[in-house]
Amino acid sequence: MDILKRFLNYISIDTTSDSKKSDSPTSLGQRKLAKVIMQELKELNVDNLYFDNDHCYIYAKINGSSSYPSVGFVSHLDTSEDERGSDISPKMIVDYDGQDICLNDNCLLTVSSNPDLKNHIGKTIITTDGTTLLGADDKAGIAEIMGMLEHFTHNDCEHGDILVCFTPDEEIGMGTDNLNLSYFNPDIAFTVDGSVLGELSYENFNAATANISIKGINTHPGTAKDKMVNAVRLAIAINSSLPLEIPENTENYEGFYHLEEISGDVSYAKMKYLIRDFSFNDFEKRKKKLTAIVNELNKKYNNCIELNIQDKYFNMHSIIKNYSDYLDLVFSAIDEVNVEPIVIPVRGGTDGANISQMGIPCPNIGTGGHNFHSIYEYICLEDMQKVVEILISIVNNFSKFNKENVNIMR
Ligand SMILES: [Zn+2]
Repeated sequence: MDILKRFLNYISIDTTSDSKKSDSPTSLGQRKLAKVIMQELKELNVDNLYFDNDHCYIYAKINGSSSYPSVGFVSHLDTSEDERGSDISPKMIVDYDGQDICLNDNCLLTVSSNPDLKNHIGKTIITTDGTTLLGADDKAGIAEIMGMLEHFTHNDCEHGDILVCFTPDEEIGMGTDNLNLSYFNPDIAFTVDGSVLGELSYENFNAATANISIKGINTHPGTAKDKMVNAVRLAIAINSSLPLEIPENTENYEGFYHLEEISGDVSYAKMKYLIRDFSFNDFEKRKKKLTAIVNELNKKYNNCIELNIQDKYFNMHSIIKNYSDYLDLVFSAIDEVNVEPIVIPVRGGTDGANISQMGIPCPNIGTGGHNFHSIYEYICLEDMQKVVEILISIVNNFSKFNKENVNIMR
């Protein structure tokens, strides 16, 4: 099936996940999309197909030779809550002329804000109508993986096992919560969930969340001397003691403390920080620094501050660095279809970070989409077709390597 037809069909289904719900999946649209994909996978006649009805995960497999490393691909069914994901009316700009694109009377996709548009002159661009997101994140990934599967079900060639998993609720951090490794356990996997064509990411933040609650003592301000403990003032003191390493001041490999929430009054205040760093040592130092600040204040104010730090995910590089031979294969696979690999550290997390922690190295690959989670989201059709070639090339490249030799190299 044509990749465009698949993509337009997938984005016509509203699969916005819902962070207020804890059911799996958090929205019925995801089940609806899963049903469509299951039907397509049946038609492709893959060797193994399983739908985890309890949690809405799709697992598919094309059997190959066990002499080669098995390769897995992952995309997510849901779309972000950041913009509306229902009633998407995509616009197709055929033979793009390099000018600003009018999404609607009040909304322009400009070349000045989106210099990448210049790479798509003469090609077909798919945009929104300026009122919804597009859903290329991650339905482009699903369509591309389906295109790759279609290739290998129609072409009889040597390869290792090819495994695919489509997960629910990635956008709200639950994508791998119910991933079943007895159905998905390749030697290497890829999330197809990144942005530009050629993007390859194998590093991401180490991440923790710190919740702080402060119990103050309220008295009449006129007679407060030596009695009042002002919770909001202590909250401000905590924040002022941290360095100005904050999201709005940092980029590339720089970590940060992000004060995501703060509220309170004299008698009670609470704060929430996101702590992020690529380096594990610096990540630990950040947590220690916040703990030391709180401990110091607690000494002075009778232990009125409670700090709870929870690790969320870790840098996949700690796992992937042991698989440089596999990474070399991925670089050459991208190269061989005449795409320049673009290595981008992910200033966030991916499902691949969690999958890597489960023992399966899992870098992220670009889908060709731009401006995710936004009404300005767009994708170039030719880039989607090229990503299918990249996925096919990856499988083919891993088939050139004897598994035993690869293991010896490690
Ligand atoms: Zn995504």
